[in-house]
Formats: sequence, C-alpha cells, structure tokens
Amino acid sequence: MRQFPVEDGELVVGSQRLSTLAARVGQTPFYAYDRQLLVDRVRSLRAALPVGVKLHYAMKANPMPAVVGLMARLVDGVDVASAGELRIALDAGTPPAEVSFAGPGKRDGELRQAVASGVLINLESGREIAVLQRISDALGLPARVAVRVNPDFELKGSGMKMGGGARQFGIDAEAVPAMLQQIGGSGLAFEGFHLFAGSQNLRPHAICEAQMKSYELALRLAAYAPSAVCSLNLGGGFGVPYFAGEQRLDLEPIGANLQRIMARVQSEMPHACLVLELGRYLVAEAGIYVTRVVDRKTSRGQVYLVTDGGLNHHLAASGNFGQVIRKNYPVAIGNRMDAEDTERVSVVGPLCTPLDLIADRMELASAQVDDLVVVFQSGAYGASASPQAFLGHAACPEVLV
Ligand SMILES: *Cc1c(COP(=O)(O)O)cnc(C)c1O
Repeated sequence: MRQFPVEDGELVVGSQRLSTLAARVGQTPFYAYDRQLLVDRVRSLRAALPVGVKLHYAMKANPMPAVVGLMARLVDGVDVASAGELRIALDAGTPPAEVSFAGPGKRDGELRQAVASGVLINLESGREIAVLQRISDALGLPARVAVRVNPDFELKGSGMKMGGGARQFGIDAEAVPAMLQQIGGSGLAFEGFHLFAGSQNLRPHAICEAQMKSYELALRLAAYAPSAVCSLNLGGGFGVPYFAGEQRLDLEPIGANLQRIMARVQSEMPHACLVLELGRYLVAEAGIYVTRVVDRKTSRGQVYLVTDGGLNHHLAASGNFGQVIRKNYPVAIGNRMDAEDTERVSVVGPLCTPLDLIADRMELASAQVDDLVVVFQSGAYGASASPQAFLGHAACPEVLV
C-alpha cells in the first residue's frame, strides 16, 4: 500500500523496517499504527473541509489508549459509546466539554458517570430523560443532552446502515418534537442534535445528500427545541477503500457541500457548531496487522500459508465482521515487498475453523516459514472488534509507532 514506504524489500512502518519492528514488539502477531500517518490524515482532511467544522474521533474504531491520546490532541472532540470508552477518552486528556456519549442501552451507572464527567449525552430513548432527571437532581448537575435522531431517510450505499426505517438507534424523527417538549420541562441542558445515517461509504454524493438532508431535518426539528441549537452533529460515514477496485473517497464535493451548509447555519441556526464524527476514515489506513508464517503446506495443489494469528485478532479481514460477500483485504509478505517470484496462495490462521481465512487464493510473493504477512487497512475495527479469547490463543499486542 502506497502509504508505507519500502526499503530493501522491507515495509517501513513508523520509520522502522518491519523485521526490526517485530523484534522490538518481541512477538508476532501484533498490530502497529503509524503516528505520522494519523497526523497526516487529520491534516489533509481539515484542509478539505471548511474552517469551523469540528472534527470528532469516534473511538470505537480504535480504542487503544495511546491512539486515543494522539487523536485527542489532533481533533476537536471524542465520541464514546460506553463508560469504558469514556474513561479512556478522559484519561487521554479530552476536555469533557468536547466528549459526547451515544449508544443504545446506556446503563444508569454509565449515565451517572457521564453526568458527573460533564460530557454531552446523546439521548436515544425517552427512558434516558427520566433517568437523567433523577441523576441530575442527585448530583446537582444538569445533564448536557442532545437528541439523537433516527432520520426518515438512509445513507445510500453504506457498508452499515444506522439510520432510516426501524432502528435501535436514536429517536424516530417524527417522535422528536414531543421529546423536545419533555426535555424543555425537565431541567436538562439541551444542546442540539445528533444524526448518524451510516458507515463505510465511498460515494461522496450520497454523503453530501445525507448531510444536507440531516441539516434540513435538524432545522425543522429546531423549531420545537426548548433552546437554541448549539451543537449539530451530522455524523460521518466516510469510508476507506478495502477491496480491489474501490476508490479513495473524493473529499472535494463533501467540502463544497459542507460550505453550503455552513452558509445556511450562519443565518438559520446561528448558535450552532457543525460536528462530524469519524472513526475508520481517521485511523484505518494508518494500521497494519502482522502475523508470521508458521507452516506452509499444499493440499491438492493449493498452497496454504498457516500463520500464528487470524480471525481471533482480525475478524474483519476474515470477512466475518458484517460483510455480505467475503473479499480479500490488501495483504502482502512484508519482508519480500520487491520479490519477483510470486505464487497464488491462501493465508489461513491457526484456528480450527474454515472461517479463519486471511487471504483466499491471492497472488503474493513466494513465502516461507518465518516470513511476515501484513494485512493493510487494519487500523480500525481490528483488535478490539475481534474474538480474542476464541480457541484460547494469546491476546494481540498493539503498538503506536
Ligand atoms: C460507529 C459509529 C461511528 C464511526 O463509524 P466509522 O464507520 O468508523 O466512521 C460514528 N458515529 C456513531 C454514532 C457510530 O455508531
């Protein structure tokens, strides 16, 4: 992948050759995230967006504390989805004013921690209002709340749809006016709206359309709000290319569309700050998963490279994290990047299940035992989104380099 340089046939990650990095980590498998690539990504994204749009990191994409610590300094806020993530975000030094907490099924204890922390809570049910009223009274702190709206439209072409139709997320748009009235009499501090229509989208015009529709929906709902909207989170959904034939997201139309929305905000919702919350777009391409070849065997003409890690560490690369059709992630033999000698192989992990497939009949450099298999585009939904206890293998270390 072009974001990582190659030196003498070896991939370079965080200015270190892969074999040296593996020695430094002290074991395989491992995940490595490249600091400079994270910095560059935020910088180039900001350059493409209008000044004044706030950028939040949705940390469920990669909750490694060191990554969150770095991202917290680069972006304007962190979005969390559990009390565990809340603790990491606050430990990372994110100002509580810039943390927001979304997710269905927030437990009373989590809501209490959120109110005591002073973070913004995205309401996803009427029950949460009643619980927050009790907590706010008990703590003497009014909860800061926004309403997460389940829009009456979808983000077209999304890898995962999270809005439109019946959803467990947010409040149906048509039920929001009544909820706003309830908030008005509750003593809670209303701050705005949160909309999140979908994820992993590579179609800029679909994203633009969803953002404009989200803005217009928020504007209609603002008429029922108990106070001015000061925070308007339009979601994100920016995708990254994982598979052959996928193109990088073109940010130009998205920047231009946000510019049009900003212009409308100035006159129509003058107190509001626009927020985008992005997970994978910020971190996916900066990360790799590295696993070592422990065996090489041939079955009826098909070559298998058997590695020391697989779907237990990287469920998404095995095709079992929400994918409808399994496709190969970009994979390479990281210590043979210049090899001319290639062959068609399948890379499988050490688990006793045919699901443990990292590369299905891919053309890779001819590899031997001890070579290092690299899975690219692995900085998001990797270590924390995989069943690490499955089959009793050791957990996978992560390094930020
Ligand atoms: C998962 C999630 C995100 C991040 O999605 P990505 O595809 O990683 O950008 C952002 N916001 C909410 C509410 C989410 O649930």
